[in-house]
Amino acid sequence: MKVLVAVKRVIDANVKVRVKADGTGVETANVKMAMNPFCEIAVEEAVRMKEAGTATEVVAVACGPASSQETIRTALAMGADRGIHVQTDVELQPLAVAKLLKAVIAKEQPGLVITGKQAIDDDSNQTGQMLAGLLGWPQGTFASKLTIEGGKLRVKREVDGGLETEILNLPALVTTDLRLNEPRYASLPNIMKAKKKPIEAVTPEALGVDPSPRLKVLKVVEPAKRKAGAKVKSVAELVDKLRNEAKVI
Ligand code: AMP
Repeated sequence: MKVLVAVKRVIDANVKVRVKADGTGVETANVKMAMNPFCEIAVEEAVRMKEAGTATEVVAVACGPASSQETIRTALAMGADRGIHVQTDVELQPLAVAKLLKAVIAKEQPGLVITGKQAIDDDSNQTGQMLAGLLGWPQGTFASKLTIEGGKLRVKREVDGGLETEILNLPALVTTDLRLNEPRYASLPNIMKAKKKPIEAVTPEALGVDPSPRLKVLKVVEPAKRKAGAKVKSVAELVDKLRNEAKVI
């Protein structure tokens, strides 16, 4: 079974994000970028499936500007076999990414698609769900365990009340949650080997997709500074403050 993994390049999770002075977005110039952490988990899971013999090939796909190739190289260094880069300088929103991935999937015919549950830059948590909808495929979102049993996919997923298990027919789409696995670090020899693995470049036009944004961002602002908290000495004092100061009870 071929597994296709969608990987996004985002601001490194350890970088403090700054809003641009003109409020049009966040500063990305001279900022360290990395693979979205949930996409790392997706790549790790696909590579483990290949190591276990349930996957035959792992294909990493990134949509975005030329720099997205770095993210594909990271996936290749982790163990993916080849990459596909959908190259565009247009600002991509989840629906556009879902349409682009759908077109790639039509050509590649994978048995399983794994995306992150969300990208830590826009926190949209939409692309995987939209893609499954466009494909008409079953989806297992927020997966914390995946197993193939009798030609079907068993997905343990994290829901508000605990864990839910779904059995999905293949082909299917899965989005990863934090506890699915702990992604490996790429070793130096594997980083070197990854340089020789193929990355195919395609354009949205060649895929027949118009990726232009459908939503307009009006303004991006820093979150309000939180006021300092206070410690109370007793439950009685807490109740008094909640009742008479905060007036919430
Ligand atoms: P989002 O819906 O933006 O929170 O993203 C959820 C997931 O969709 C990510 O973790 C990726 O797996 C995938 N995704 C989003 N944007 C891209 C992109 N530009 N290229 C490849 N995959 C993407």
